[in-house]
Amino acid sequence: TQFTDLGLSQPVLKALAADGYESPTPIQAQAIPTVLAGRDLMGIAQTGTGKTAAFALPIIEQLVKNPRMAPRRGCRALVLSPTRELATQIAESFRSYGRNLNLSVAIVFGGVAAGPQIRKLAGGVDILVATPGRLLDHVDGKMLRLDQVEHFVLDEADQMLDLGFIHAIRRIIPMLPHRRQTLFFSATMPKTIKDLADAMLTDPAMVAV
Ligand code: AMP
Repeated sequence: TQFTDLGLSQPVLKALAADGYESPTPIQAQAIPTVLAGRDLMGIAQTGTGKTAAFALPIIEQLVKNPRMAPRRGCRALVLSPTRELATQIAESFRSYGRNLNLSVAIVFGGVAAGPQIRKLAGGVDILVATPGRLLDHVDGKMLRLDQVEHFVLDEADQMLDLGFIHAIRRIIPMLPHRRQTLFFSATMPKTIKDLADAMLTDPAMVAV
């Protein structure tokens, strides 16, 4: 399989070539066409498998194919990540893959001043990558609304639970529109994670690598 077989557009293919990507990893080959078609996805994959591009590329394509202004104090795509390091990497990936397109990307995590994050969110962003605690701080402070989210990614679900984010996630899910695309990733799938996934996903495609 080649990237050109997966339904990606020229601006995205160019960005991948510039990043030195030659061919898709297995999770990318399996996930990208499914996610592009709008389906929910449950992915069992570790870091290092290329899972970030597996969700970022088809989200970028869908945002561009269906152009809309980002909602004020809101976002069109929301990615939840367990740590600030991973959130930063994910945001950098979106920026790189989307470098030939006009998409705004913001990051929200704790341990730093809230002011700059709030100013960035004010006009709305296309893609928001966030850790759950600070995300809820911004929602509770009325600086962020999640009712316009079209694509939602929960990354490293098992890590989220280990780090005690289950309560935050259970608060965030009902704030999202019922009609949305959800992509759920975890390295492991014990019963607690499976139950969480079942509660969030609609008729998901399964990909395990
Ligand atoms: P991830 O599993 O998403 O954390 O990605 C692991 C690393 O592999 C990152 O540095 C990516 O930039 C890189 N990567 C992802 N997909 C590909 C690909 N198809 N070809 C080459 N490198 C890739």
